[in-house]
Amino acid sequence: MSVPCVVVPREEGESTRRTLADLGVLDEAHDITVEDGRLYIPVSEPRAVPGEFDVVSHDAPERDRQTLPGEILGWEPSYERLGDIAILDEDDPGRAREAARAIAESSLPVGTVVNRASPVEGELRVRQWDVLYGEETETVHREYGCAFALDIAEVYFSPRLATERHRVVEQVEAGERFFDMFAGVGPFVIPAARRGAEAVGVDLNGVAVEYLRENAERNGVADRVTAIEGDVRRVEGYDGWAERLVMNLPHSADEFLDTAVDLAGESCT
Ligand code: SAM
Repeated sequence: MSVPCVVVPREEGESTRRTLADLGVLDEAHDITVEDGRLYIPVSEPRAVPGEFDVVSHDAPERDRQTLPGEILGWEPSYERLGDIAILDEDDPGRAREAARAIAESSLPVGTVVNRASPVEGELRVRQWDVLYGEETETVHREYGCAFALDIAEVYFSPRLATERHRVVEQVEAGERFFDMFAGVGPFVIPAARRGAEAVGVDLNGVAVEYLRENAERNGVADRVTAIEGDVRRVEGYDGWAERLVMNLPHSADEFLDTAVDLAGESCT
């Protein structure tokens, strides 16, 4: 089967594999192949591979040693992965427990399995979780080449928004003044700064702001990121500053339009 692969001379194979693993773009479901002294390393997110590498389409055998949860259960559980946490969306507690056991027994690199125990709630938009396997709710999640440390019990984060975040951030230009009014742990701020923007992120949740600062360091953009804890309506010094604004607070962003207009520069997206 043809899949996207980074192609490198054999002697650069291990260092390239490690770089791609650190970026979180390795395709673990396919094996690396060697042909004519060159290594073909399967990647899951070709668009997130740094420009210095060549990406080609190449035949790669599927790994057959993985045991997936569905094979253990005989039915497909619904879950998503956030770092080494598997997040279930099961209404039936019995099915949730069975799915958690199967995920833990499978080949997936998962240390914790949780089930949603509430909707996202309150001003901080944090959810309650039933922890069904393991105990650690802090993890490091990788997305389009960025790494985000976060604790799902303390902050909002949704891996489902990855494609939409990427679509927005791809429009950011180097040198641009980028303002995220509800920044969380930085999934817009960090990639915007990596594209060369001067990025400011505000959040009411002090724990999220601590992670935002840690993530700026972790991704090598601390010099271009300002993280501010507090209510964005009370932030001073940025009137007319922003050339691009993000306001991802679906349940009540409309209440913050006046603030957005104050923050926006003459030309602002
Ligand atoms: N942008 C982040 C993301 O995509 O993961 C977080 C989005 S989350 C839906 C909304 C965030 O807004 C939460 O982290 C919450 O703490 C923060 N928030 C809510 N009200 C706020 C306010 N008045 N000022 C600043 N942040 C606020």
